[in-house]
Amino acid sequence: MDSALAPLPRAQTWSSAKIALLPGAEGIGVFAREAISAGEVLLALAHVFVAHAERHTIQLDAHLHQAGTGEIDDFLNHSCAPNTALDFERLELRAVRPIAAGEELSFNYLSSEWDMAAPFTCVCGAPHCHRLIRGFRHLNAEQQAALAPVASAYLRRRLAELRPLRADPA
Ligand SMILES: [Zn+2]
Repeated sequence: MDSALAPLPRAQTWSSAKIALLPGAEGIGVFAREAISAGEVLLALAHVFVAHAERHTIQLDAHLHQAGTGEIDDFLNHSCAPNTALDFERLELRAVRPIAAGEELSFNYLSSEWDMAAPFTCVCGAPHCHRLIRGFRHLNAEQQAALAPVASAYLRRRLAELRPLRADPA
């Protein structure tokens, strides 16, 4: 049985041998050492939770955030057109398309964060780049709807709560 499939809770972050920390355009990032297939599990995060958002946390619920583990996952940079996505239930990062050797791995922070602790200006270069990355709550309705399929259950719940308000003509 692969260590990535160990029973929960997971005490240590597992990372694929196909990825490594390397210096990139935006500082240290996580890069593919060899070709990766769509759907491959690349990281399985240690279960370490905190109540408040910080720089390296990943939001799971209103007052529940996956903590930065001090490991490779803390260096995963944002992209508005990412090549990985998080399975929020299993806390596993998976490739969403084939990734070439040498390509940087990225994750869309807007798929997890309602209101970011450390907003920043994105330079990912994607055609639909959001530029100012402040959190899901700051996106317009169209942008939120587009992200919903990859967003956490928490963000999708917040979005469902917003819908009746938006539909109200008053
Ligand atoms: Zn961007």
